[in-house]
Amino acid sequence: MSRKDLLRLFEPERVAVVGATPREGSVGRGVMENLRSFDGDVVGVNPKHDDVLGFPCYDDIPSVPGSVDLAVVAVPAESAVDVVDSLGERGVKNVVVLTAGFSESGGGGAERETALAEAAERHSVRLVGPNSLGVTSTPSSLNATFGSASPREGNVSFMSQSGAFITAAVDWANDARMGFRHIVSLGNKSVLDETEFAEAWGEDDGTAVIVGYLEGVEDGGRFVRVLRRVTRETPVVLVKSGRTDEGARAVSSHTGTLAGSDRAYETALRKAGVIRADDVEELFDFARALDALSLPEGDGVAVVTNAGGPGVMATDAVGDTSLSLADLTDGTYEALDGALPDAASVYNPVDILGDAPPERFADAVEAVADDPGVSACLVIACPTTTFDFDDLAETLVGTDVEIPLVASLMGGEATREARDVLSESDIPTYFDPARAVRSLEAVADYRRAKRRRTGEVRDFDVNRQKARRILETARDDGRLGVEATPLLEAYGIPTPEGDVVGSPNEAVQVAEGIDGDVVMKIVSPDILHKSDIGGVRVGVTQDDVRDVYEDLVSRARSYQPDADVLGVQVQETVEVDDGVETIVGFSRDPQFGPLVVFGLGGIFVEVFEDTSFGIAPVTDTEAREMVDGIDASPLLHGARGSQPVDTEAVVETVERVSALASDFPSILELDINPLVASADGVSAVDLRLTVDKEEL
Ligand code: ADP
Ligand code: MG
Repeated sequence: MSRKDLLRLFEPERVAVVGATPREGSVGRGVMENLRSFDGDVVGVNPKHDDVLGFPCYDDIPSVPGSVDLAVVAVPAESAVDVVDSLGERGVKNVVVLTAGFSESGGGGAERETALAEAAERHSVRLVGPNSLGVTSTPSSLNATFGSASPREGNVSFMSQSGAFITAAVDWANDARMGFRHIVSLGNKSVLDETEFAEAWGEDDGTAVIVGYLEGVEDGGRFVRVLRRVTRETPVVLVKSGRTDEGARAVSSHTGTLAGSDRAYETALRKAGVIRADDVEELFDFARALDALSLPEGDGVAVVTNAGGPGVMATDAVGDTSLSLADLTDGTYEALDGALPDAASVYNPVDILGDAPPERFADAVEAVADDPGVSACLVIACPTTTFDFDDLAETLVGTDVEIPLVASLMGGEATREARDVLSESDIPTYFDPARAVRSLEAVADYRRAKRRRTGEVRDFDVNRQKARRILETARDDGRLGVEATPLLEAYGIPTPEGDVVGSPNEAVQVAEGIDGDVVMKIVSPDILHKSDIGGVRVGVTQDDVRDVYEDLVSRARSYQPDADVLGVQVQETVEVDDGVETIVGFSRDPQFGPLVVFGLGGIFVEVFEDTSFGIAPVTDTEAREMVDGIDASPLLHGARGSQPVDTEAVVETVERVSALASDFPSILELDINPLVASADGVSAVDLRLTVDKEEL
């Protein structure tokens, strides 16, 4: 089924409603009422009627004459599978199942949904739902939903996992004069899901912006891959509610606790180039801005206001975003000086004073728009006696500016007309200056996402066989600790010299092979944080090795008598003082797969939580962004006179850990903490992982 074909769902010429009925309050009637405005043909299927709301009605699917491009199914759940089967047999390829009573409810609903999907599969039917509100397509006034509101025509295509939300959103959007192109209520997504619609709309010339309200993503990996392609051409804005069950997650490692499902979602959206909205208001604010505005060239914003207070509000809002208030050039100051009264402030935010007539707004906007450091402009207008909003709107529409322009009209009913006039001319309006600023940020974010180089997933020379053998040695509970250090070696990640030993004599032998003082640690998968029980000893001289061995083992025994003590690790001392302790690891998200983490490491990792994330496979570019993305990254680049660390080696370690995550789905979680990074390279000093032995 190709994507272009999926668009046919929205372009039918003849629609059949199976379960059409004149009964008040029924779904079947609701759809028929909404279909009255459809430009094409409508027929009903219901043996009890010959006519429903003036449309012809047939006894069953085979008796419908002519072609049917779209069927809407509003029959009881028990007969829905048979209906889809007979629609398939008749060659109907586009079917929307409104009927509820499937996987969202108990009592055999899940089995029924499987049967429904199989029926669709058998006949290659593009099936929306079940439990869907329906689909709409404004170019042909198609409203095949049982919702109460009909959308205006526009360029935004909208998908939603909640049908009720569509009804609410359309009503709101009508009030805001915002239009839609296609709308689909995804329902239970038994066949078609968000990724398929995003892909289809990405190829639809009439769709300028894709927006979605999701509660979850069906196949995270596919979603990220496809959306990355779509967002190169078409902006996608999503809002997500609901979280996966945190309790079900294994949190035996740092990485697991740091991750959380929202992190995975956030990271996946960034990788896919999708703009995330925090709430429903933002979803449509962003959609309108992305639809109306051209992409700004930079992040500098100019604010033109007739009141000081809202100018300060806008300044604060800019400070909360990735945008900045542009520093204006001398030429711009001169132009503003010439155009504005003496008392006005020519500095950004440009305060044109409370007595400003519309022309003064226009002069100031045109002056700042010519400034090379200004990539977008926000006009704030508070009601005064010297202008009315309608005149202001007309004047702003007449200005000659190339950059994105948004307006904050700080009033209610008085701004009604002005809002419509400005929206018509692609100048989005908002009440709150902060909302206007965030919308400008969304457009700037999209510019970045669109142009962002994804980078490459580098192919490293690794020893998978060796890695597998080591993983097989995991205990029944799947835990492995520093005894699995050779796993890192197999993946080309540098580790300190040393070994795990089972006796004081062996410890002495290993220590003798290492230059200088050694580090000794207890090795037991039952002891998660070795240093908490005094299980890590640094600066051990050759003479003390034997005693320290005995001491470590007895500490472990007294801490936890039944602990499984595998021995003691004798390790070369890594110069921690000259380096930075970092953490590199991954956990697995149920929807998006391996979530790779990089951060400030050592024993304070959970205190600072200074981390960045990537979804495996992490590209070279993404790994670098992760390393540069933590707050403490100046430390890596040599803050306060210290030597910069070998960040290339750190970046490469992130990529190699990502490769390990992709190659071995059996590794549920892994963390290297610390990975000591210094000017000489990196060294993985500590390791912990959990393996699902069944998966090996
Ligand atoms: P755990 O995390 O279980 O407490 P680690 O092996 O991470 O045990 O050791 C704790 C800390 O001890 C490290 O963060 C590091 O500061 C220090 N350390 C451990 N091994 C070495 C080593 N080989 N060289 C230098 N310092 C080390
Ligand atoms: Mg550690």
